[in-house]
Amino acid sequence: MTLLYYDPRFLDHDTGHHPEQPERLRQIIDQLQSTGLAARCQRPTWQPASRERLQRVHEPGHIDRIAAISQRGGGQLDPDTIVSAASYDVACLAAGAACDAVDRVLAGEGKTALCLVRPPGHHALSERAMGFCLFNNIAVAASVARDEHQLDRVLIVDWDVHHGNGTQDTFYSDGRVGFFSSHRWPFYPGTGAGDETGTGDGLGATLNLPVTFGTPREVYRERFAAALEKFAARIRPQLVLVSAGFDSHRADPIGSLGLEAEDFAELTKLVLNVAAVHAEGRVVSILEGGYNPPVLAECVETHIHKLIRTD
Ligand SMILES: [Zn+2]
Repeated sequence: MTLLYYDPRFLDHDTGHHPEQPERLRQIIDQLQSTGLAARCQRPTWQPASRERLQRVHEPGHIDRIAAISQRGGGQLDPDTIVSAASYDVACLAAGAACDAVDRVLAGEGKTALCLVRPPGHHALSERAMGFCLFNNIAVAASVARDEHQLDRVLIVDWDVHHGNGTQDTFYSDGRVGFFSSHRWPFYPGTGAGDETGTGDGLGATLNLPVTFGTPREVYRERFAAALEKFAARIRPQLVLVSAGFDSHRADPIGSLGLEAEDFAELTKLVLNVAAVHAEGRVVSILEGGYNPPVLAECVETHIHKLIRTD
């Protein structure tokens, strides 16, 4: 069974005139309902991430700052990153979904899970928000798997068009959480060069696959497949988490690496294969970017279709 996480409260993170807007999720949900795919999933209820869980990744001061800005009605943290009155609660709910999915998948309630959340998370650093992201949902979830479920081999696969700098930074010296990222290069946020491979205990547990704009789709998929398979054999993950951004689609207004919706079916299959070999098929996928709402909805449909078919 695939677990599907979505709550209409995710629409309350009001960003105004901004590419990371509620319409993204509205169109995804409409599509999953009209195609009957949502009905084929289990829909758990869950709690917002606790302070203790957020602090596995974030500095107390960062959490307090987001809460305070929300409480006074909202504000702008940087030119890209907006906080509205509801954003603190919504961000806790988003991180909570990712954590709950990890809890349930590890408890055997489902093999795969998809968390359709906003705001996204993978740029958020321990001490500050960045690039539309307030709390790093996937990093908090991976920390829960590591600290509360005592896993010592977790793999994060990040195929968002942007490098997941916040996630990389969180686990850069941690050999228990492997980080694999394919992303457009050079591009925002500037990190993610091929020679960034981790440090100390984490040396070799970070793998960056920078891809230049104009790389043919076939070449992208081949490089992704070869690198992921090799890296997974090294990490031998007990659980696979996915930072599922769909902004490398050719019609994305922010990103684009020339991919088509069907390419995300292929990437999903590759991740599922790795999970089947190493992790008893356990995959928790968490939405990151994707800024062309109808195209995003189509991409998520192909993604969840593969997740469901595994069960
Ligand atoms: Zn992105």
